[in-house]
Amino acid sequence: MDVLSKLNILSAAAKYDVSCASSGSVRTNTKGVGNTYKAGICHTWTDDGRCISLLKVLFTNYCIYDCAYCYNRRSNDIPRASFTPQEIADLTIAFYRRNYIEGLFLSSAIMKSADFTLEMMLEAVRILRFRYDFNGYIHMKVIPKADDRLIHLAGLLADRMSVNIELPTQQSLKRLACEKDFDVIFNHMGFIDNRIIENTEERKKHKKIERFTPAGQSTQLIIGASPETDYDILMLSKRLYNQYHLKRVYYSAYCHVNDDSRLPALSKPPLLREHRLYQADWLMRFYGFAAEEIIDKDEPHLNEQLDPKVNWALKHPEFFPVDVQKACYETLLRVPGIGLKSAKRIIAVRRYSTLDTKSLIKLGVVFKRAKYFITCNGKRLIDDCGDISKKIVTPDKEIKTISNQIALF
Ligand code: SF4
Repeated sequence: MDVLSKLNILSAAAKYDVSCASSGSVRTNTKGVGNTYKAGICHTWTDDGRCISLLKVLFTNYCIYDCAYCYNRRSNDIPRASFTPQEIADLTIAFYRRNYIEGLFLSSAIMKSADFTLEMMLEAVRILRFRYDFNGYIHMKVIPKADDRLIHLAGLLADRMSVNIELPTQQSLKRLACEKDFDVIFNHMGFIDNRIIENTEERKKHKKIERFTPAGQSTQLIIGASPETDYDILMLSKRLYNQYHLKRVYYSAYCHVNDDSRLPALSKPPLLREHRLYQADWLMRFYGFAAEEIIDKDEPHLNEQLDPKVNWALKHPEFFPVDVQKACYETLLRVPGIGLKSAKRIIAVRRYSTLDTKSLIKLGVVFKRAKYFITCNGKRLIDDCGDISKKIVTPDKEIKTISNQIALF
């Protein structure tokens, strides 16, 4: 099979893996080609607003496992292909030189064994780094059950690594992917996390020591293939962020690709649920919300009608209104319609001027949302929000009205 046909098969097979958007690596270009500095990778937005791209491909889609939810599973009769390490390296460098991509996301099904597959992937990355002097971003998938020594080597060559959990509990993993083991996945995460911590300490003493996975690790969870609630999923994410210091948890709405009685018969992927989970995840990582503030055991699913921040605000009328002229950064972040950038801008601008509706809009505040929750120097900004803004001080009975109003936006 020629390389282009392989590329067609293996890039299409990689589309179900979403755990590749990333940023934060600082591999600078000392020689050769490529540079991740201030860039990051994948079809995502960098800090400076640029969209960046990567070659996202599987090394092989031959798999010895038979996970129920996976298109590439052993029992599916689909076109199969495998690259050689040299082919992966040549493709990456050729695409890079044509300016199609800025890096590589290399994942794989499991061919022969976990160690064999990871060794093949490592060889491809070795060629890129050492033969082609490629300094661009590389994200490598860790193959579950691979030897720690191989994972260690991968971490020295890749910018980011990910070990996909796929399903949020041991029971679901056993039911839908019986060859995989929850504990093994967590052991890999623990190993990578420990190596990152050790490497950071070593580099404080000896600057020239190679970086180990400088952009950290991530994982992916499939949403909707198993019965776990949003509460279960967010509690797991919390654990992953706190215990293993993951950079990102990716949520992937379950797509029905296999007819299997163990899987739910969803007519379409639960994209809105995925979206709400991303919003909740964002609140935990950047807005200072604890997972327990966003969701609780008695109401274990996120409200699909409202974004989790608005939902929280409507349940906590005692917190509002917030005075934008005086409130601290952390308090501003809790106001619906005020984001990370607009909160920073508010703090900067209010030092020398009094804020009003116009200036808030200029600073990037989504006023139609924020107006219900804010005051300025004790006064409500009611010029174009009418009486509804007063209702936030009357908890409970008015919440539904406000919620309906907000849902309209
Ligand atoms: S191991 Fe990966 S590629 Fe193989 S069947 Fe399971 S999810 Fe699919």
